[in-house]
Amino acid sequence: MASVIEAAIVTGAAQGIGKSIATSLLKQGYKIFIFDLDSNLGPATEKDLCQKFGETKATFIKCDVTDKEQFIGAFNEAVKTCGHISVMVNNAGIADEYNFEKCIAVNLIGVIQGCNLAMDHMRKDKGGKGGTIVNVASMAAIDAHFILPTYCATKSGVLNFTKAWAKNPKCEEYGLTFLCLCPGFVDTEMVRTGGPHCLNPQIFEVAKSSGLLKLETIEDAFLKLMNDKQNGSVLEVSKFRIEYLKQTSVMQVNNDKETS
Ligand code: NAD
Repeated sequence: MASVIEAAIVTGAAQGIGKSIATSLLKQGYKIFIFDLDSNLGPATEKDLCQKFGETKATFIKCDVTDKEQFIGAFNEAVKTCGHISVMVNNAGIADEYNFEKCIAVNLIGVIQGCNLAMDHMRKDKGGKGGTIVNVASMAAIDAHFILPTYCATKSGVLNFTKAWAKNPKCEEYGLTFLCLCPGFVDTEMVRTGGPHCLNPQIFEVAKSSGLLKLETIEDAFLKLMNDKQNGSVLEVSKFRIEYLKQTSVMQVNNDKETS
């Protein structure tokens, strides 16, 4: 449980996996900021979560993670309300093989932007109080599928961006922890309506019919990730297992050198 009231931002939290992560954080005692571009669903989710967890526990701030100025404005608004953000979850993502620029902008650039904003705010050497950054990648980051090449590329980008930052020897001094969540197919709107955005909708339907993860499983997996809080850990969530990805290192670098 968060001791005093701590605050967390979850991008793309108006529905689906983001809403489940927000719910998990609310159960852990956090106040939540829902950053989402959906100005219909966003307020409805805020209302729903406030009814369940208490008035003012969830706040919707309209934010398109591909709009740098809007993202900065939303982040500053959350900080102004709470003083300190201790958890940043970069979850917003789309699958769109026919608009690959947008897919990269949301899934990869949006995540990097969110990390940079959170790091600037949290870093102890910059006057911050430290914090945890969780990036939502996908099993597609580990096991690529030919129907979603751009999506897979963005997700392996998210995975490696997270791991690269976690390897920074200054993480402890900065007070930063980096975590990564990699779910398999989950029963969300993205999967229900995603077929036309894939290169082969038929195969997508076959993949879906092999069984979808429930949102409750994501909630539990996220709780595990937060409780264990091992910097650089990558949690795979599939129908078969919830387990940490084994880390391998083939590159020897002198980690004592300045890296920021
Ligand atoms: P979803 O479509 O159900 O929800 C995505 C949310 O993100 C929506 O509320 C949407 O409005 C918001 N969003 C989209 N673009 C945005 C933007 N530019 N700025 C701010 N908000 C934006 O999707 P989901 O299935 O819940 O997926 C959430 C994350 O989990 C994504 O990163 C996705 O790639 C990842 N993921 C999903 C699955 C799956 O099978 N559903 C599996 C692995 C990983």
